[in-house]
Amino acid sequence: MSVKDSLFVPVGEPIEKTSNRVTVVGTGAVGMATVVSLLMQGITNDVVLIDVMEDKLKGELMDLQHGALFLKNPKISASKDYADSAGSKVCIITAGARQQEGESRLDLVQRNTDILKHIVPPLVQYSPDTILMIVSNPCDILTYVAWKLSGLPVNRVFGSGTNLDTSRFRFLISQRLGCSSSSVHGWIIGEHGDTSVPVWSGVNVAGVRLKDIQPKMGTDDDPEGWKKLHADVINAAYEIIKLKGYTNWAIGLSAASLTNTILKNLHNVHAVSVLVQGHHGITEEVYLSLPAILGDTGVVSIVKQTLNPDEQASLQKSAKAMAAVQADLKL
Ligand code: NAD
Repeated sequence: MSVKDSLFVPVGEPIEKTSNRVTVVGTGAVGMATVVSLLMQGITNDVVLIDVMEDKLKGELMDLQHGALFLKNPKISASKDYADSAGSKVCIITAGARQQEGESRLDLVQRNTDILKHIVPPLVQYSPDTILMIVSNPCDILTYVAWKLSGLPVNRVFGSGTNLDTSRFRFLISQRLGCSSSSVHGWIIGEHGDTSVPVWSGVNVAGVRLKDIQPKMGTDDDPEGWKKLHADVINAAYEIIKLKGYTNWAIGLSAASLTNTILKNLHNVHAVSVLVQGHHGITEEVYLSLPAILGDTGVVSIVKQTLNPDEQASLQKSAKAMAAVQADLKL
């Protein structure tokens, strides 16, 4: 008799299957920050890592498993084979080339579109009921590409979008005001990139709109220069990439927070990349970020945000820019 058989008297059959499996495709800087954020916060205890680099997969798996004592008995697996991701509730795509110093997110588009062609069909084949979250850049266009490649309904494919930009924005405002990010309400919508739109008209603390205190807030003649905060949000990735080569911690936390809302059906509102055709006068079939309620079925509703004419025009301009890039894509 083995030690195990001598030690235990079986009573019931253990169940291996869980309902909160999350697959993360891409075990680079972003993918691993996402996995660690998910595990350390106990958002799920069932994670599958997928990549094309076998040694990297094995190394990351071993390293994570050796931390099991400090986590919540997670079930972690790593594989090149999508069959191992079967039954995932959420699949997060972080695979692909990243920006080089000085390169814009849009420059990556065809390279990462080609990579998605190898990822999305097998993911959906093995997890037909999954919700797909796209993190790879350019996030909005790749979310559109993933939606097309997946054949999934529109509520089940979204991009992490400006959830990160919004977090950067709220942090920067909070630093000036001396209160926490979570107490500053404000949204960055539109492209996760250079044409994102800060909704200054809605920025508030405890319902007090900062624009009511300083009507010039966010404009060129604002005496306190708040507009610079949006420029800082746009430049954040470029600056961090210049300093450390890539960005990963904040995006990992952002993707984990979105996953938490879905797995726990929280109906929190997040700025995520959704199909925006028909919203705010946009006619193109493109994805951009708007505040949306997320839940068990993915994107549940899009908030009809009150935007001023300038904000609306900026969104429409982003939509046109996305459509122009999409028109040249080989899907
Ligand atoms: P990285 O180079 O560290 O990792 C990319 C990983 O993808 C590698 O491990 C690589 O082997 C894997 N990969 C490549 N092709 C693959 C395929 N066909 N199948 C499976 N895996 C594959 O890059 P990173 O820094 O982790 O960045 C990943 C992506 O995330 C980039 O596109 C980057 O621009 C993007 N990003 C997005 C945000 C956001 O807010 N949306 C923020 C930061 C980075």
